Amino acid sequence: MTGHDENLDLDVVVVGAGFSGLYMLHRLRGLGLRTRVIERAPSVGGTWYWNRYPGARCDIESIDYQYSFSEELLREWRWSERYAAQPEILAYLEHVADRFDLRRDITFSTSVTSAVYDEAAACWMVTTDAGEVLSARWCVMATGNLSVVQPPRIPGLDSFRGRWLHTGEWPTEPVDLAGKRVAVVGTGSSGIQAVPVIARTAAMVHVLQRTPNYSMPAHNRPLASEEIEEAVRTFAERRRICEWSDAGTPLAPPTTRAVDATPEERRARYEEGWKRGGISSLSFAFTDMFTDEVANGYAQDFAREQIRSIVHDPRTAELLSPTHHIGTKRTCTDTGYFETYNRDNVELVDVRTDPIVEITPDGIRTRDRQIDVDVIVFAIGFDAITGALAEIDLRGRDGVRLRDAWAEGPQTYLGLQTAGFPNLFLITGPGSPSVLSNMVVSIEQHVDWVADCIDRLRADGLDTIEPTLEAQQAWMRHVDELAQPTLYPRATSWYLGTNIPGKPRVFNVYVAGCGPYRQECDDVVAAGYRGFVRG
Ligand code: FAD
Repeated sequence: MTGHDENLDLDVVVVGAGFSGLYMLHRLRGLGLRTRVIERAPSVGGTWYWNRYPGARCDIESIDYQYSFSEELLREWRWSERYAAQPEILAYLEHVADRFDLRRDITFSTSVTSAVYDEAAACWMVTTDAGEVLSARWCVMATGNLSVVQPPRIPGLDSFRGRWLHTGEWPTEPVDLAGKRVAVVGTGSSGIQAVPVIARTAAMVHVLQRTPNYSMPAHNRPLASEEIEEAVRTFAERRRICEWSDAGTPLAPPTTRAVDATPEERRARYEEGWKRGGISSLSFAFTDMFTDEVANGYAQDFAREQIRSIVHDPRTAELLSPTHHIGTKRTCTDTGYFETYNRDNVELVDVRTDPIVEITPDGIRTRDRQIDVDVIVFAIGFDAITGALAEIDLRGRDGVRLRDAWAEGPQTYLGLQTAGFPNLFLITGPGSPSVLSNMVVSIEQHVDWVADCIDRLRADGLDTIEPTLEAQQAWMRHVDELAQPTLYPRATSWYLGTNIPGKPRVFNVYVAGCGPYRQECDDVVAAGYRGFVRG
């Protein structure tokens, strides 16, 4: 058989080899399906391959930010810290790839450029930038929610004599920033993780901030071996709690409202959360944080008070204090971020009042000044949620392009499929809890749902599945109705695509939580794939 033939008549093509693609391949293989994974990077890992910037680590506890599908895997892997750093998470995913012998079905250093549905043959024709054409009955987009970086769009970048880097495409070889003058542009999660680490060795760090962000202390620490033993012993129950929780984490949800509490009660709950640390430090204090502006305001006040108590210079503290509804932009988790501004070699530059004009050969020119640097680190985020799908020329029934079908914003049923694109599955697609959850929990649920769906189709002697337009419209209305009473749609955030010029402003994350969402997906299956047409 030639290499070309091996690509034809596949059962499944999977795009992406991060947490989603790796587990998808493993499950499909278990069903005896001929599967090929196409991955742009030279190796596995996805997010954890690309984001090698200093300080990169997860902000969901390592114990929960791992697969649950294999008891052996769970037992043999030992996380060293409460929040593992990028090299350790990448090592874990490499271990998974090796342990389950996944690499032999992955084509690396190759991008999928188009995927076209051939209706007569009921199969997907998938083309890569290496000129290969693959055909498969099913196609799974495991392309990631945060996998397409937002490029720097500042005039003059080409003239810069120093080096520039993007946190989301950090080089694989070590980057030495010691003794260098560095500008970090952007203060989202990546910037907030990177700044304290860069500041330790750089000669000078200028942090260019447009919007300050809330950040919770990680209280990261090494995990003691007894703690890991205990976590492994109780893992099944802990994971079950995550799966049926709101955010995919094991914390007990709050039961009372901030607006009903006394100031002392509120303070006690917030302080308890701050001491515990992590992304949900304040969001798990009361039930009404995301639905009531007053309740949200109490949590904001507490967070700003912490910033003022840490940062010595009052003007810097003020500039670092966010004013948006807390949690409606992704809350960050840090190790010493605000403390870093007390160092002599760190300066905050407020580009809201003094905007960047251009990059010059020597650095960055703002309206009021020139900042000379050796290195510019762009921590400016991603074309989130839909970016990777929009990059691919995806065409469904009657040649309809996904880009056109989604021109006003993404349309899906359950975040898993989109009408007019039979047998195309999305992992953590828009309309599912995706970025508002512990994504490994959400990924496992989606991968299992898709694998079970394909298995059922085959068992029933069927070839295709796609949602009805009515079911899809009803789902999108439902997702919107859940979101509208919350504060999320009011934000300016990458959740809504507002960071990308020209992107439609829509909020399309399912906000009612992982547990209710899982129930909805299970119910659809139990009702004979209600809302889908199987043929
Ligand atoms: P990805 O890991 O993004 O993998 C998708 C892969 O698809 C990539 O390797 C990409 O190269 C490939 N790909 C895309 N398009 C194409 C194409 N056209 N052709 C070929 N290959 C393609 N989530 C959490 O829940 N907790 C955390 O603590 C957390 N921390 C994060 C920290 C950072 C810095 C970032 C960026 C994200 C973080 N996330 C976190 C979200 C994270 O993306 C997910 O948790 C998870 O890693 C996603 O896995 P995935 O396989 O779905 O997507």
